Amino acid sequence: MKTELFVGNEWIAADSGETFEVVNPATEEVIAQVAKGGEADIDAAVAAARSCFDSEEWRKMSGRKRGKLLAKAADILQSRLGEFAELESIHNGKTLFEAKIEVFMSVSTLRYYAGWADKIEGKTIPVEGPFFVSTRREPIGVVGAIVPWNFPLNLASWKYAPALAAGCTVVLKPASETPLTALLFGEVIAEAGFPPGAFNVVSGGGSTAGMALVRHPGVDKIAFTGSTEVGRLIMQEAAKSNKRVSLELGGKSPNIVFADADIDAAVRGALTGIFYGKGEVCAAGSRLLVEESVREEVVDKLAARAAKLIPGDPLEKGTRMGALVSKSQRDSVLEYIARGKKEGARLVAGGNPVAVNGKGYFLEATVFDDVTPEMTISREEIFGPVLSVLSFEGEEGAVELANETLYGLAAGIWTSDIAKAHRVADRVKAGTVWINAYNYYDTAAPFGGFKASGFGRELGGEALDAFLETKTVWVNLG
Ligand code: NAD
Repeated sequence: MKTELFVGNEWIAADSGETFEVVNPATEEVIAQVAKGGEADIDAAVAAARSCFDSEEWRKMSGRKRGKLLAKAADILQSRLGEFAELESIHNGKTLFEAKIEVFMSVSTLRYYAGWADKIEGKTIPVEGPFFVSTRREPIGVVGAIVPWNFPLNLASWKYAPALAAGCTVVLKPASETPLTALLFGEVIAEAGFPPGAFNVVSGGGSTAGMALVRHPGVDKIAFTGSTEVGRLIMQEAAKSNKRVSLELGGKSPNIVFADADIDAAVRGALTGIFYGKGEVCAAGSRLLVEESVREEVVDKLAARAAKLIPGDPLEKGTRMGALVSKSQRDSVLEYIARGKKEGARLVAGGNPVAVNGKGYFLEATVFDDVTPEMTISREEIFGPVLSVLSFEGEEGAVELANETLYGLAAGIWTSDIAKAHRVADRVKAGTVWINAYNYYDTAAPFGGFKASGFGRELGGEALDAFLETKTVWVNLG
């Protein structure tokens, strides 16, 4: 385990000498004391990133060479997949199976952007007059990446991989609940041969280390994933220094089941849509919108299957649901469950905290029926294993209900009518729409939000845009 800050390819204690505890949410044990980075440490990391960015070595490094470094990092991470997955599982509480998928996705992300690094091109532009005009795509500079605790390694890779491919350098601030895999990843970067300062990690609090990164004059861009509330704060602060910002924020995604759908497939999709990763997933299909004529059938099937999703030891083979990330997160989800009951929703599965071997912040897979749009559990992001079922009549009703939210991250549509699927996909305001599927991702497919779910896209070729500036060069041929 690595517990010190990773700055300039070296491991250093926090300037203050302070540390904070990291807890395994499945056992409630303290598993590490990690360096508590603050303003001075952010200063040091930004200085290292800046000096690398301005160095001859980095500036003159070809895209092909950067791509080779990223590909090497992918190989190293892949060779250590089991170790990283175990660590991801023990600080986050997710099952080892889910953690392995996550590390595998980070490997894919590194490989994908390794391929992009030598394909970043400008254009030649025909203009009036005796001029040759071309554009160059230049790296933005030093990137501050701030990530949440739900997919710590993967969401970080969605930022640093395209940023490094574009020729930027990076200071990463992981969530304080889950700093361990980001810190360990420093070993991968150093072994791959990245020059000191290309990639740095400062663990610490959000309002301290995180805000110091956002305010730092040496940072050119903030790439943030987290809550909508903190995203707004970051946008306000970043505006003061004209920093570029991209935001991947919260969601309350509708998963729409029409009566003509393959109901068993839709039920399976609804279950993975909400219970994968214990519901601590930004794109979770937390609002299941069911056409009234099949509501009873869908709810009965859901409730029966949810009751079988028993939380267990995340490291044990076969466990299908792990522990929530922390006590405070579980308390917050329990509060939402209490509000759901109080506001008149009908609890049809789960609802209770669970202990595994007498410990841990586990929670049953929970399903509420008879939810109405004005209820709190239908409006607010719960970020836990709680599904709200609402019903609608007809296509128009589905679209109206789907869009009745501040958010716009993702949506699912289950129907056997492909024309209807396309019509609804056109009208749902969300960055990703899955038809007869839910929760699929690919490094090549852009991902991001509409409305309060943020702006900018991660993954795919589009993610590179967040880390590049266009420079237009005019040559007088007259
Ligand atoms: P959070 O906003 O509390 O924290 C996210 C990160 O920001 C952490 O590293 C935290 O330390 C830091 N932070 C907190 N306050 C800060 C401040 N004032 N200044 C700078 N940094 C600060 O979110 P969380 O609770 O860790 O994660 C859950 C949220 O993340 C949910 O809303 C979820 O939907 C969202 N999320 C979005 C996506 C996406 O791709 N859209 C993916 C995963 C999670």
